Amino acid sequence: MACRQFDLVADRLQIPDAERGRLKYPKRSLTVALPIHRDNGSIEVFAGYRVQHHLTLGPTKGGLRFHPDVTLGEVAALAMWMSWKCALTGLPYGGAKGGITCTPRNMSAGELQRLTRRYTQEMIPFIGPQVDVMAPDVGTNEQTMAWMMDTYSMHMGYTVPGIVTGKPVGLGGSLGRREATGRGVGYLINRAMDTVGLAPNGATAVIQGFGNVGSVTAYSLSRYGVKIIAVSDVNGGVFNNKGLDLHKLEQHIERTRTIAGFPEGEPVTNERLLITPCDILVPAALERQITQANAARVQCRILAEAANGPTTPEADAIIEQRPEIFVIPDILCNAGGVIVSYFEWVQDLQSFFWSETEVTDKLFRILESAFVQTLSLSRKQEISMRMAALSFGIKRVQEAKNVRGLFP
Ligand code: GLU
Repeated sequence: MACRQFDLVADRLQIPDAERGRLKYPKRSLTVALPIHRDNGSIEVFAGYRVQHHLTLGPTKGGLRFHPDVTLGEVAALAMWMSWKCALTGLPYGGAKGGITCTPRNMSAGELQRLTRRYTQEMIPFIGPQVDVMAPDVGTNEQTMAWMMDTYSMHMGYTVPGIVTGKPVGLGGSLGRREATGRGVGYLINRAMDTVGLAPNGATAVIQGFGNVGSVTAYSLSRYGVKIIAVSDVNGGVFNNKGLDLHKLEQHIERTRTIAGFPEGEPVTNERLLITPCDILVPAALERQITQANAARVQCRILAEAANGPTTPEADAIIEQRPEIFVIPDILCNAGGVIVSYFEWVQDLQSFFWSETEVTDKLFRILESAFVQTLSLSRKQEISMRMAALSFGIKRVQEAKNVRGLFP
Protein backbone atom coordinates (compact mmCIF):
# COMPACT_ATOMS: atom_id res chain seq x y z
CA MET A 1 0.00 0.00 0.00
CA ALA A 2 2.70 2.48 1.03
CA CYS A 3 4.78 1.74 -2.09
CA ARG A 4 1.77 2.02 -4.39
CA GLN A 5 0.84 5.38 -2.86
CA PHE A 6 4.45 6.51 -3.27
CA ASP A 7 4.50 5.48 -6.96
CA LEU A 8 1.29 7.43 -7.67
CA VAL A 9 2.72 10.57 -6.08
CA ALA A 10 6.13 10.09 -7.75
CA ASP A 11 4.37 9.89 -11.14
CA ARG A 12 2.49 13.09 -10.42
CA LEU A 13 5.61 14.91 -9.22
CA GLN A 14 7.55 13.46 -12.16
CA ILE A 15 10.30 12.24 -9.88
CA PRO A 16 13.01 10.71 -12.11
CA ASP A 17 13.42 6.92 -11.82
CA ALA A 18 16.98 7.37 -10.58
CA GLU A 19 15.71 9.21 -7.47
CA ARG A 20 12.75 6.96 -6.68
CA GLY A 21 14.70 4.07 -5.18
CA ARG A 22 16.55 6.42 -2.86
CA LEU A 23 13.28 7.82 -1.54
CA LYS A 24 11.42 4.55 -1.35
CA TYR A 25 13.73 1.93 0.20
CA PRO A 26 14.11 1.86 3.96
CA LYS A 27 17.63 2.92 4.87
CA ARG A 28 18.17 0.35 7.62
CA SER A 29 16.23 -2.39 9.34
CA LEU A 30 16.98 -4.68 12.24
CA THR A 31 15.24 -7.93 13.16
CA VAL A 32 15.85 -9.39 16.59
CA ALA A 33 14.90 -12.60 18.39
CA LEU A 34 13.65 -11.86 21.90
CA PRO A 35 13.75 -14.78 24.35
CA ILE A 36 11.92 -14.14 27.64
CA HIS A 37 10.80 -16.14 30.66
CA ARG A 38 7.02 -16.56 30.70
CA ASP A 39 5.32 -16.53 34.09
CA ASN A 40 4.76 -20.31 33.89
CA GLY A 41 8.53 -20.90 33.79
CA SER A 42 8.78 -21.62 30.06
CA ILE A 43 10.98 -19.64 27.66
CA GLU A 44 9.41 -18.09 24.57
CA VAL A 45 11.13 -16.31 21.69
CA PHE A 46 9.35 -13.31 20.12
CA ALA A 47 10.26 -11.51 16.88
CA GLY A 48 11.06 -7.80 17.08
CA TYR A 49 11.72 -5.28 14.33
CA ARG A 50 12.84 -1.70 13.79
CA VAL A 51 12.89 0.01 10.39
CA GLN A 52 14.48 3.44 9.83
CA HIS A 53 13.19 4.80 6.55
CA HIS A 54 15.53 7.73 5.92
CA LEU A 55 18.21 9.64 7.83
CA THR A 56 18.39 12.72 5.61
CA LEU A 57 16.76 15.31 7.88
CA GLY A 58 17.82 14.23 11.36
CA PRO A 59 17.22 11.31 13.70
CA THR A 60 14.43 8.89 12.82
CA LYS A 61 11.18 9.00 14.76
CA GLY A 62 8.24 6.68 15.18
CA GLY A 63 6.31 4.41 17.47
CA LEU A 64 6.74 0.86 18.73
CA ARG A 65 3.80 -1.48 18.17
CA PHE A 66 2.89 -4.65 20.09
CA HIS A 67 0.38 -6.65 18.04
CA PRO A 68 -0.01 -10.26 16.81
CA ASP A 69 -0.07 -9.17 13.13
CA VAL A 70 3.24 -7.26 13.23
CA THR A 71 5.57 -8.21 10.34
CA LEU A 72 8.72 -6.63 8.91
CA GLY A 73 6.73 -5.47 5.86
CA GLU A 74 4.06 -3.76 7.96
CA VAL A 75 6.69 -2.02 10.07
CA ALA A 76 8.49 -0.82 6.90
CA ALA A 77 5.25 0.63 5.49
CA LEU A 78 4.50 2.40 8.77
CA ALA A 79 8.09 3.77 8.82
CA MET A 80 7.63 5.22 5.33
CA TRP A 81 4.38 6.92 6.37
CA MET A 82 6.19 8.42 9.38
CA SER A 83 8.71 9.99 6.96
CA TRP A 84 6.02 11.73 4.93
CA LYS A 85 4.16 12.75 8.11
CA CYS A 86 7.24 14.35 9.68
CA ALA A 87 8.15 16.10 6.42
CA LEU A 88 4.59 17.39 5.87
CA THR A 89 4.57 18.98 9.32
CA GLY A 90 8.15 20.28 9.04
CA LEU A 91 9.72 18.17 11.82
CA PRO A 92 13.50 17.58 11.59
CA TYR A 93 13.14 13.78 11.45
CA GLY A 94 13.09 10.82 9.15
CA GLY A 95 10.44 8.15 9.72
CA ALA A 96 10.85 4.90 11.62
CA LYS A 97 8.66 2.24 13.20
CA GLY A 98 9.20 -0.74 15.43
CA GLY A 99 7.14 -3.74 16.36
CA ILE A 100 7.04 -6.96 18.33
CA THR A 101 4.80 -9.80 17.17
CA CYS A 102 2.93 -10.57 20.40
CA THR A 103 -0.53 -10.38 21.99
CA PRO A 104 -0.19 -7.92 24.90
CA ARG A 105 -3.72 -8.70 26.15
CA ASN A 106 -2.60 -12.24 26.93
CA MET A 107 0.60 -11.22 28.72
CA SER A 108 1.18 -10.17 32.33
CA ALA A 109 2.80 -6.86 33.26
CA GLY A 110 5.95 -8.76 34.25
CA GLU A 111 6.13 -10.53 30.88
CA LEU A 112 5.58 -7.25 29.01
CA GLN A 113 8.30 -5.59 31.05
CA ARG A 114 10.79 -8.39 30.30
CA LEU A 115 9.91 -8.29 26.59
CA THR A 116 10.23 -4.50 26.39
CA ARG A 117 13.58 -4.48 28.21
CA ARG A 118 15.00 -7.30 26.07
CA TYR A 119 13.91 -5.50 22.87
CA THR A 120 15.49 -2.23 24.07
CA GLN A 121 18.71 -4.02 24.97
CA GLU A 122 18.88 -5.64 21.50
CA MET A 123 18.22 -2.24 19.89
CA ILE A 124 21.01 -0.37 21.73
CA PRO A 125 23.45 -0.29 18.76
CA PHE A 126 20.61 0.95 16.53
CA ILE A 127 19.00 3.78 18.56
CA GLY A 128 19.90 6.97 20.45
CA PRO A 129 18.51 10.47 21.06
CA GLN A 130 20.40 11.66 17.94
CA VAL A 131 19.83 8.44 16.00
CA ASP A 132 16.34 7.01 16.41
CA VAL A 133 13.70 7.95 19.00
CA MET A 134 10.78 5.58 19.75
CA ALA A 135 7.29 6.40 21.09
CA PRO A 136 4.03 4.57 21.85
CA ASP A 137 1.89 3.05 19.09
CA VAL A 138 -0.78 0.32 19.05
CA GLY A 139 -0.42 -1.90 22.14
CA THR A 140 2.22 0.21 23.93
CA ASN A 141 1.90 3.11 26.37
CA GLU A 142 3.69 5.40 28.84
CA GLN A 143 4.73 2.46 31.01
CA THR A 144 6.39 0.76 28.01
CA MET A 145 8.32 3.98 27.35
CA ALA A 146 9.40 4.21 31.01
CA TRP A 147 10.88 0.67 30.86
CA MET A 148 12.67 1.51 27.61
CA MET A 149 14.09 4.73 29.02
CA ASP A 150 15.25 2.90 32.15
CA THR A 151 16.90 0.05 30.20
CA TYR A 152 18.76 2.45 27.90
CA SER A 153 19.78 4.71 30.80
CA MET A 154 21.08 1.78 32.89
CA HIS A 155 23.20 0.74 29.93
CA MET A 156 24.63 4.24 29.46
CA GLY A 157 25.16 4.82 33.18
CA TYR A 158 23.18 8.06 33.28
CA THR A 159 19.58 9.13 32.66
CA VAL A 160 18.72 9.68 29.00
CA PRO A 161 15.11 10.98 28.80
CA GLY A 162 15.48 11.90 25.09
CA ILE A 163 15.76 8.23 24.04
CA VAL A 164 11.95 7.87 23.86
CA THR A 165 8.91 10.16 23.82
CA GLY A 166 5.45 9.55 25.22
CA LYS A 167 7.01 8.91 28.66
CA PRO A 168 5.24 9.58 31.96
CA VAL A 169 5.39 13.33 32.71
CA GLY A 170 7.36 12.64 35.91
CA LEU A 171 10.21 11.12 33.86
CA GLY A 172 10.60 13.97 31.39
CA GLY A 173 7.46 13.33 29.37
CA SER A 174 5.65 16.34 27.92
CA LEU A 175 2.41 17.71 29.26
CA GLY A 176 -0.23 17.14 26.58
CA ARG A 177 1.62 14.29 24.80
CA ARG A 178 -0.87 11.60 25.79
CA GLU A 179 -3.78 13.68 24.48
CA ALA A 180 -1.92 15.10 21.47
CA THR A 181 -3.01 12.73 18.70
CA GLY A 182 -6.72 12.79 19.64
CA ARG A 183 -6.69 16.55 20.23
CA GLY A 184 -5.08 17.05 16.84
CA VAL A 185 -7.72 14.84 15.19
CA GLY A 186 -10.45 16.90 16.92
CA TYR A 187 -8.87 20.18 15.80
CA LEU A 188 -8.58 19.06 12.17
CA ILE A 189 -12.13 17.69 12.09
CA ASN A 190 -13.31 21.07 13.36
CA ARG A 191 -11.38 22.77 10.52
CA ALA A 192 -12.84 20.28 8.02
CA MET A 193 -16.40 20.96 9.31
CA ASP A 194 -15.78 24.63 8.72
CA THR A 195 -14.45 23.87 5.22
CA VAL A 196 -17.47 21.78 4.16
CA GLY A 197 -19.99 24.00 5.96
CA LEU A 198 -21.08 21.54 8.64
CA ALA A 199 -22.13 22.96 12.03
CA PRO A 200 -20.42 21.07 14.91
CA ASN A 201 -23.45 21.42 17.16
CA GLY A 202 -25.52 18.30 16.62
CA ALA A 203 -23.19 16.77 13.99
CA THR A 204 -22.75 13.02 14.48
CA ALA A 205 -19.54 11.00 14.71
CA VAL A 206 -18.69 7.30 14.57
CA ILE A 207 -15.31 6.18 15.94
CA GLN A 208 -13.66 2.82 15.29
CA GLY A 209 -11.15 2.08 18.07
CA PHE A 210 -11.30 3.44 21.59
CA GLY A 211 -7.66 3.35 22.62
CA ASN A 212 -5.64 6.46 23.41
CA VAL A 213 -6.40 8.09 20.04
CA GLY A 214 -10.08 7.11 19.63
CA SER A 215 -11.09 8.00 23.18
CA VAL A 216 -9.39 11.42 23.27
CA THR A 217 -10.86 12.18 19.82
CA ALA A 218 -14.34 11.36 21.18
CA TYR A 219 -13.94 13.74 24.13
CA SER A 220 -12.40 16.42 21.96
CA LEU A 221 -15.25 16.23 19.41
CA SER A 222 -17.90 16.27 22.12
CA ARG A 223 -16.33 19.47 23.44
CA TYR A 224 -16.87 21.00 19.98
CA GLY A 225 -20.58 20.00 20.30
CA VAL A 226 -20.43 16.84 18.18
CA LYS A 227 -22.60 13.85 19.19
CA ILE A 228 -20.73 10.51 19.34
CA ILE A 229 -23.29 7.95 18.13
CA ALA A 230 -21.13 4.81 17.83
CA VAL A 231 -17.76 3.52 19.00
CA SER A 232 -16.04 0.14 18.91
CA ASP A 233 -13.00 -1.84 19.99
CA VAL A 234 -11.70 -5.29 18.89
CA ASN A 235 -14.63 -7.05 20.56
CA GLY A 236 -17.37 -5.02 18.86
CA GLY A 237 -19.15 -1.76 19.38
CA VAL A 238 -22.17 0.12 20.60
CA PHE A 239 -24.58 2.44 18.76
CA ASN A 240 -26.95 5.03 20.20
CA ASN A 241 -28.66 7.49 17.90
CA LYS A 242 -29.15 9.98 20.75
CA GLY A 243 -25.42 10.09 21.48
CA LEU A 244 -23.33 8.02 23.91
CA ASP A 245 -22.54 9.20 27.43
CA LEU A 246 -18.73 9.05 27.26
CA HIS A 247 -18.20 9.14 31.03
CA LYS A 248 -20.55 6.19 31.60
CA LEU A 249 -18.89 4.37 28.71
CA GLU A 250 -15.48 4.90 30.28
CA GLN A 251 -16.71 3.54 33.61
CA HIS A 252 -18.06 0.47 31.78
CA ILE A 253 -14.65 -0.03 30.07
CA GLU A 254 -12.86 0.29 33.40
CA ARG A 255 -15.09 -2.44 34.84
CA THR A 256 -15.16 -4.87 31.91
CA ARG A 257 -12.05 -3.86 29.85
CA THR A 258 -14.21 -3.64 26.70
CA ILE A 259 -16.90 -1.55 25.00
CA ALA A 260 -18.97 -4.62 24.11
CA GLY A 261 -21.95 -5.03 26.41
CA PHE A 262 -22.35 -1.31 27.23
CA PRO A 263 -26.06 -1.24 28.16
CA GLU A 264 -26.94 2.27 26.90
CA GLY A 265 -27.11 1.42 23.20
CA GLU A 266 -27.43 -1.38 20.67
CA PRO A 267 -24.53 -3.71 19.91
CA VAL A 268 -22.90 -3.16 16.51
CA THR A 269 -20.18 -5.11 14.71
CA ASN A 270 -17.05 -3.40 13.42
CA GLU A 271 -18.17 -4.08 9.80
CA ARG A 272 -21.54 -2.42 10.39
CA LEU A 273 -20.03 0.46 12.35
CA LEU A 274 -17.99 1.61 9.33
CA ILE A 275 -21.11 1.93 7.15
CA THR A 276 -23.27 3.60 9.82
CA PRO A 277 -24.72 6.89 8.47
CA CYS A 278 -22.96 9.80 10.22
CA ASP A 279 -21.35 13.17 9.51
CA ILE A 280 -17.86 12.21 10.69
CA LEU A 281 -16.28 8.76 10.43
CA VAL A 282 -13.06 8.24 12.39
CA PRO A 283 -11.16 4.98 11.86
CA ALA A 284 -8.80 5.06 14.87
CA ALA A 285 -7.59 1.46 14.97
CA LEU A 286 -5.53 -0.46 12.41
CA GLU A 287 -4.68 -0.41 8.70
CA ARG A 288 -6.93 -1.59 5.84
CA GLN A 289 -10.37 -1.03 7.39
CA ILE A 290 -11.94 0.83 4.47
CA THR A 291 -11.54 -1.46 1.51
CA GLN A 292 -12.93 -2.16 -1.95
CA ALA A 293 -15.69 -4.12 -0.19
CA ASN A 294 -17.12 -1.26 1.92
CA ALA A 295 -15.83 2.03 0.40
CA ALA A 296 -18.96 2.59 -1.70
CA ARG A 297 -21.16 2.04 1.37
CA VAL A 298 -19.41 4.43 3.76
CA GLN A 299 -21.93 7.18 4.61
CA CYS A 300 -20.17 10.26 5.99
CA ARG A 301 -19.25 13.83 5.06
CA ILE A 302 -15.82 13.77 6.69
CA LEU A 303 -13.49 10.77 6.81
CA ALA A 304 -10.86 11.52 9.44
CA GLU A 305 -8.05 8.94 9.33
CA ALA A 306 -6.83 8.84 12.91
CA ALA A 307 -5.21 5.43 12.32
CA ASN A 308 -2.23 4.91 10.01
CA GLY A 309 -3.25 3.49 6.61
CA PRO A 310 -6.94 2.75 7.34
CA THR A 311 -7.96 3.15 3.67
CA THR A 312 -6.59 0.82 0.96
CA PRO A 313 -5.56 2.28 -2.44
CA GLU A 314 -8.55 0.46 -4.06
CA ALA A 315 -10.92 2.08 -1.54
CA ASP A 316 -9.21 5.40 -2.14
CA ALA A 317 -10.02 5.21 -5.85
CA ILE A 318 -13.70 4.65 -4.96
CA ILE A 319 -13.76 7.49 -2.43
CA GLU A 320 -12.14 9.86 -4.92
CA GLN A 321 -15.24 9.35 -7.08
CA ARG A 322 -17.40 10.52 -4.16
CA PRO A 323 -16.78 14.27 -3.87
CA GLU A 324 -19.32 14.51 -1.03
CA ILE A 325 -16.69 12.92 1.26
CA PHE A 326 -13.92 15.18 2.60
CA VAL A 327 -10.88 13.09 3.58
CA ILE A 328 -8.37 14.17 6.22
CA PRO A 329 -5.54 11.80 5.26
CA ASP A 330 -3.70 9.84 7.96
CA ILE A 331 -0.32 11.57 7.67
CA LEU A 332 -2.05 14.86 8.43
CA CYS A 333 -4.92 13.67 10.64
CA ASN A 334 -2.88 11.83 13.27
CA ALA A 335 0.27 14.00 13.08
CA GLY A 336 -0.50 15.61 16.47
CA GLY A 337 1.16 12.68 18.23
CA VAL A 338 4.54 12.98 16.59
CA ILE A 339 4.41 16.79 16.71
CA VAL A 340 4.15 16.74 20.50
CA SER A 341 6.74 13.94 20.57
CA TYR A 342 9.04 16.43 18.85
CA PHE A 343 8.24 19.00 21.57
CA GLU A 344 8.97 16.38 24.23
CA TRP A 345 12.34 15.53 22.65
CA VAL A 346 13.27 19.23 22.45
CA GLN A 347 12.27 19.75 26.12
CA ASP A 348 14.32 16.69 27.17
CA LEU A 349 17.41 17.82 25.25
CA GLN A 350 17.22 21.25 26.88
CA SER A 351 15.93 20.13 30.31
CA PHE A 352 13.51 23.02 30.02
CA PHE A 353 9.81 22.17 30.26
CA TRP A 354 6.75 23.91 28.83
CA SER A 355 3.21 24.39 30.13
CA GLU A 356 0.36 22.39 28.62
CA THR A 357 -1.15 25.53 27.08
CA GLU A 358 2.15 26.27 25.35
CA VAL A 359 2.31 22.71 24.01
CA THR A 360 -1.28 22.68 22.72
CA ASP A 361 -1.02 26.15 21.24
CA LYS A 362 2.15 25.25 19.30
CA LEU A 363 0.57 21.94 18.24
CA PHE A 364 -2.49 23.66 16.76
CA ARG A 365 -0.33 26.22 14.92
CA ILE A 366 1.62 23.48 13.14
CA LEU A 367 -1.54 21.53 12.31
CA GLU A 368 -3.24 24.69 11.04
CA SER A 369 -0.49 25.48 8.59
CA ALA A 370 -0.22 21.85 7.38
CA PHE A 371 -4.02 21.76 6.91
CA VAL A 372 -4.16 25.06 5.02
CA GLN A 373 -1.22 24.13 2.76
CA THR A 374 -2.69 20.71 1.98
CA LEU A 375 -6.17 22.08 1.31
CA SER A 376 -4.96 24.84 -0.97
CA LEU A 377 -2.74 22.48 -3.02
CA SER A 378 -5.61 20.02 -3.30
CA ARG A 379 -7.93 22.77 -4.57
CA LYS A 380 -5.41 24.46 -6.85
CA GLN A 381 -4.34 21.27 -8.58
CA GLU A 382 -7.68 19.45 -8.24
CA ILE A 383 -6.09 16.48 -6.51
CA SER A 384 -7.24 14.55 -3.45
CA MET A 385 -6.26 15.69 0.05
CA ARG A 386 -4.17 12.49 0.35
CA MET A 387 -2.31 13.19 -2.87
CA ALA A 388 -1.69 16.79 -1.74
CA ALA A 389 -0.41 15.78 1.72
CA LEU A 390 1.85 13.03 0.35
CA SER A 391 3.14 15.37 -2.37
CA PHE A 392 4.31 17.88 0.26
CA GLY A 393 5.94 15.21 2.39
CA ILE A 394 7.69 13.37 -0.43
CA LYS A 395 8.82 16.56 -2.17
CA ARG A 396 10.47 17.87 1.00
CA VAL A 397 12.46 14.68 1.45
CA GLN A 398 13.35 14.61 -2.26
CA GLU A 399 14.61 18.21 -2.14
CA ALA A 400 16.66 17.54 1.00
CA LYS A 401 18.28 14.48 -0.58
CA ASN A 402 19.09 16.38 -3.76
CA VAL A 403 20.61 19.38 -2.04
CA ARG A 404 22.71 17.17 0.27
CA GLY A 405 23.90 15.19 -2.77
CA LEU A 406 25.12 11.62 -2.90
CA PHE A 407 27.90 10.39 -0.61
CA PRO A 408 30.76 9.77 -1.52
N1 GLU B 1 2.97 6.13 16.85
C1 GLU B 1 2.59 7.47 16.55
C2 GLU B 1 2.42 7.67 15.06
O1 GLU B 1 2.14 6.74 14.34
C3 GLU B 1 3.50 8.49 17.19
C4 GLU B 1 4.94 8.42 16.77
C5 GLU B 1 5.86 9.32 17.58
O2 GLU B 1 5.37 10.09 18.40
O3 GLU B 1 7.06 9.24 17.37
O4 GLU B 1 2.48 8.74 14.54
